[in-house]
Amino acid sequence: MAWTEPQQRALRAMGLRVWTPPSAVAQVGASPPVESPVRAPARAQVEPPVHAPVQAPVQPARAHAVQPLQRADVSGLDWPALREAVAHCRACGLCETRTQTVFGVGHPQAQWLVVGEAPGEQEDRQGEPFVGAAGQLLDRMLAALALSRADDGALPPEQRVYIANTLKCRPPRNRNPAPEELARCEPFLVRQIELLKPRIILAMGRFAVQALLRSDEPIGRLRGRVHRYAGVPLVVTYHPAYLLRNLPDKAKAWEDLCLAADVAEGRQAAPTTG
Ligand code: URA
Repeated sequence: MAWTEPQQRALRAMGLRVWTPPSAVAQVGASPPVESPVRAPARAQVEPPVHAPVQAPVQPARAHAVQPLQRADVSGLDWPALREAVAHCRACGLCETRTQTVFGVGHPQAQWLVVGEAPGEQEDRQGEPFVGAAGQLLDRMLAALALSRADDGALPPEQRVYIANTLKCRPPRNRNPAPEELARCEPFLVRQIELLKPRIILAMGRFAVQALLRSDEPIGRLRGRVHRYAGVPLVVTYHPAYLLRNLPDKAKAWEDLCLAADVAEGRQAAPTTG
């Protein structure tokens, strides 16, 4: 079948590659238009580089071609470039099922960093972390310490909170993040921490703790003291979704927040090593 030039432009805009037989390539500029069945490129061409632009080549529906573990090099990126890199990331299969990536929210000079697990359904839809029931609980707990995720510049830095997740894409049906997904997504969180330079990190739940402290110990054993991540004091606490199901542990989470506030405000010294 022959595609007209406007049709070819539309196909290219949709990310569909128009195949040109070698014989036609040799006749650049020749008419009539090239015989050009649209077809998926060979497997080696299917997989775009990490952070490929949106106009990626054809992907077979839902089948994410798996690459050897390749960690994104985002080490030199500033905030806008990092956000772009996340938005275009195709490093793991979650890109096939996400509605959108969930980068993070808050002022880029916040003194607090809260790290959660992964976007859920609401977050995937709205593109912001912690907007569901767990997020509302988190906001109420932060507000009790006069802290806020608001990014309007009206707050002093010590009251600003940046919120990010270990995974930037929603796992289907909110299943647990897979180790390989966490590994591929980790450079984004690492760079967010480098750019933010927070005074305190609050790691909420098992996956945030595993990502930042490399520890499989239960939260109950890690909370109540100050750890360090890359030199930054870090306090471990329960995930707000867990607190919604286990109300008695809210008091412990409140203690953890108060400990984090004491460290952030210099009332409690943090250990010098992890
Ligand atoms: N749970 C998380 O860990 N992160 C979110 O963004 C939402 C729910």
